[in-house]
Order: sequence, then C-alpha cells, then structure tokens
Amino acid sequence: MVIKSTGSWYKLKIEDGSILNARIKGKIRLKELRVTNPVAVGDFVDYELEDSGDVTEGVILNVCKRHNYIIRKSNKLSKHGQIIATNIDMALLIATISHPETSLGFIDRFLLMASAFHIPTTIVFNKVDLYSENELAYCNNLSELYSSLGHPCIKTSLNLAEFEPTKMLNEVIKNKKVLISGHSGVGKSSIINAFLPNAKQKVDIINMHFKGKHTTTFAEMFFVDDNTAIIDTPGIRDFGVIDIPQQEIAHYFPEMRALMSKCKFNNCIHLNEPECAVYEAFERNEIAPSRYQSYLSILDNENMFG
Ligand code: GDP
Ligand code: ZN
Repeated sequence: MVIKSTGSWYKLKIEDGSILNARIKGKIRLKELRVTNPVAVGDFVDYELEDSGDVTEGVILNVCKRHNYIIRKSNKLSKHGQIIATNIDMALLIATISHPETSLGFIDRFLLMASAFHIPTTIVFNKVDLYSENELAYCNNLSELYSSLGHPCIKTSLNLAEFEPTKMLNEVIKNKKVLISGHSGVGKSSIINAFLPNAKQKVDIINMHFKGKHTTTFAEMFFVDDNTAIIDTPGIRDFGVIDIPQQEIAHYFPEMRALMSKCKFNNCIHLNEPECAVYEAFERNEIAPSRYQSYLSILDNENMFG
C-alpha cells in the first residue's frame, strides 16, 4: 500500500509491515482517468524488488483497482486531475460551532463531494469546551439534522476528559483508512496528534502543514495501529472543484433525492419550477432551510469551496 507520494518517489507499506521506497519505471496508464499522478496514497500496487548497490528499492508495476478516490483539478484550466488519496473508508469532517465558526455551506459542500466520491462521513464538532449554552443547543440541533441524513455526529474537546478525541473516535475509526478534513483552526492537527503515539510522526505532520500553505503537497498516511490510518490532506479546500452537472446536485442531498421523482418535470432543478416536490417540502419545513440554501448556492456557484 502506498503511504506517501512525492510525485516521483513513493513509500510502500509491504506485506511484512516494513516500509519500502519505490518508484515507477516506465509508464503506468489508468483507464478512463486523466491524471497527473497515476499512483496515490492509499493505492495497492504490485511491485518488484530491485537491488541497486546496497539498498533494495521497489519498482511499482501496476495499480490495483480502487474502490474510491478523491481528485482535484491540477489547476483551474487543466483537464487533468490530481488524485489526492484512494481507497478511503470514511471521512471525519472536523467542524466547530465557534472559534472559528464552520459555515453550514462548507459542511454541506463537503458532504456533497464526499458522497459523490462514495466516502461515508462522520461530523466531529470539536472545541465543545468553548461553546456557550446556545451554541451547544445549536450543535445538538445540527447533530440531529445531520444524523437524520446519514452522517453520525460526535462532540469532542481536547480540554474535557469526557469528550477527549481519542476516546470519542477510537471505535469509529478502528480498522479504517480515515480522511481528515475541515477548515484551518478547527483542531485537525491537535486531534491527529492525539492519536499518534510516536513523536516522529508528529514532526512529519508539522512539516507537511507548513508546506501545505505554500505549495502543492501530497497527502500522507499516518498509522494509529497496524490497520487504522489517518490521511491528512493539504489543499483539501480545492477538493470541491470537480464537475457535477446542475441536474445531478440534488442526487447528493438525500432529503431531496427521496422526493425528486415526484416533481412534475423530470429535468426539474428545484428552483422555481411549478409542482416541484422538493420546493414544496421546503415550504412545509420538511427540508431544513440551511440545506436548501446550501443547495441553491451550490447550484449557483461552480467554485465549490470558494
Ligand atoms: P488545524 O488548523 O485544524 O490543524 O487546528 P489546530 O490543531 O492547529 O488547532 C487550532 C487551535 O485550536 C490550537 O491553538 C489548538 O490548541 C486549539 N484547539 C484544538 N482543539 C481544541 C479544543 O478542543 N478546545 C480548545 N479550547 N482549543 C482547541
Ligand atoms: Zn423539483
């Protein structure tokens, strides 16, 4: 499994659990996917060993079929994508009600993209120690809303023993490859560090964050135990820039998808068409106003995380 990629060098975790440096020889072509990097963190690859003097290196021969991947455009105009990570079992979206406030628009966009990439997402409301009574009540309301849409919600705090992140999340992430995302300042690094027993990994993370602010970097995977890994993703804000046709956006809002077949027009985008079942449900308060608002702004705005 590829656990780190720099674009020309790769780190593989091989059968016996050890780490092997590897590279690609020749060209690896991927069917139906135009990308700048054919091999990404999370990939399972076939490799062979190559002796070059006193070090043994790996040569990657082939990428095994992925069960999912996340991709972003290499740059705005490019038709090529860059794969950020593959074979992800779940995402943790770290959010905060305050200090700083994570907008519902951001949460809804993330959930849309994650579901387009087939990545189940749990929402983690961090820093609950800082919430006022009202904010806590609001947090509980949101937890109810998002749980009802299929996204479990968990409260955490680094400052309260009863909400300690590893305690709250251990079972959730066990034996999974977990993508961590969220706005800067919500506590991603703090939570990741809480999971990592060894100091070297922490240093790696800090370096990566530093680079992430200035240049394009690649995701790296950190092991919590043999079968549990966290993938931190610099540049995740660009994650949203993939093309979903207007017609399809509502498919990724489960509360809308359930109603769409009842709209009068089968090309309805649930804006102001007559006899739109989605809009009628919104008017009856059966779709949360914040969700409908997010839907409208996504329809309206191609730069998803702009
Ligand atoms: P990142 O940008 O998402 O990686 O966020 P950091 O992990 O760097 O955290 C940003 C700031 O929030 C740091 O000063 C942390 O010490 C602080 N922080 C993280 N988690 C908590 C928490 O649960 N409660 C409080 N009060 N502060 C936190
Ligand atoms: Zn409609």
